[in-house]
Amino acid sequence: MTRIYFDHNATTPVAPEVADAMGIALRTVFGNPSSVHAHGQQAKTALDAARAAVARLIGAEPTEMVFTSGGSESDNLAVRGVAAVSASRRRHLVASAIEHEAVLQTLKALAKDGWTTTLVGVDDSGVVSPDRLAQAVTRETALVSIMHANNEIGTIQPVAELAAVAHEHGALFHTDAVQSVGKIPVDVSALDVDLLSLSAHKLNGPKGVGALWVRRGARLRAQLTGGKQERSRRAGTENVPAIVGLGVAAGLAEAKLATADGNLASLRDRLEAGILSGVAGSQRNGDPHRRVGNTSNISFDGVEAESLLIALDLDGVAVSTGSACSSGALEPSHVLRAMGFSPHRTQNSIRFSLGLGNTAAEVDHVVGLLPGIVSRLRAVSGRHARAPLAVSS
Ligand SMILES: *Cc1c(COP(=O)(O)O)cnc(C)c1O
Repeated sequence: MTRIYFDHNATTPVAPEVADAMGIALRTVFGNPSSVHAHGQQAKTALDAARAAVARLIGAEPTEMVFTSGGSESDNLAVRGVAAVSASRRRHLVASAIEHEAVLQTLKALAKDGWTTTLVGVDDSGVVSPDRLAQAVTRETALVSIMHANNEIGTIQPVAELAAVAHEHGALFHTDAVQSVGKIPVDVSALDVDLLSLSAHKLNGPKGVGALWVRRGARLRAQLTGGKQERSRRAGTENVPAIVGLGVAAGLAEAKLATADGNLASLRDRLEAGILSGVAGSQRNGDPHRRVGNTSNISFDGVEAESLLIALDLDGVAVSTGSACSSGALEPSHVLRAMGFSPHRTQNSIRFSLGLGNTAAEVDHVVGLLPGIVSRLRAVSGRHARAPLAVSS
């Protein structure tokens, strides 16, 4: 059976160029970048090259990049690191209701430590409006954290306008750009943010490595203490092969973004149009225009998303129910709930996320499979009015 992978927002395959560079680094660059001798300097040179490549991808200075263990750590470092140095009169944190758990759970943890937190809602297409944010931010707000592109629905937030609201009140602005970096052009100056998270494994790099960009002058306390690595913002001997992989992935992403077919939108649109016209009772979730090009989130009326996911997997197709990152938890999506969807529609939603190597033939294959699977599942559940149950005359 041919396997089709439409779950690139969960993780991506490592690009061959990345794997090659990592293999070479693993075998030949074993020095400690903090060592003065030639072995150490060779490793330091490899780190510097990766740092420059990642910085270039987001329009930043290399010295502003902090390598981390991934998107989750970057989000934690941003929120906790800023909170730790903020003035005692600024004990308030703001995020959107559709953030990744790495931000939401961090705010929850800080709330237990006495911080006041506010989650800002979204409209029915998943967008945070600057007006709504303005009602939440006060002069006591230390940090606002709102993601650039959402992992479940792909919606792109008006980050520059949102950051302006935070800055008016003297708060810093962090954006989780894990789902936008590598998919759309990301420029820290244009976004006007103060901190930005990215993760290698969402852009055809390895797992377990990412970066936090911290605008020069923005204060932050290290959350891992020890050595002076990463300009004293993240202690620990650097994971050189993984960071080399991130650097190569950043270079590939930059080259890909320069080409028209780099953003996968035409492939995604073909998939979406095929499903919406081929499957009765299917509906698109999220803003159809303001979103990254690879993501489509669709509800199938009367079909449990988990059952559809399993049926597709049996046919060799990997998709996702949206958020469920860990251990197949059956929690309804907090993103779709925040958009005001009924519990039913929330539990009927599937995320298709395309990426490197996907083809029109794969899209057509999935479009061809879905009507049959969906009507079979509807017949079994018997809950759907349009289900083709053989009960009549
Ligand atoms: C995947 C993801 C993360 C977490 O990144 P890891 O590198 O897996 O820790 C954070 N935010 C968003 C939006 C993500 O999609």
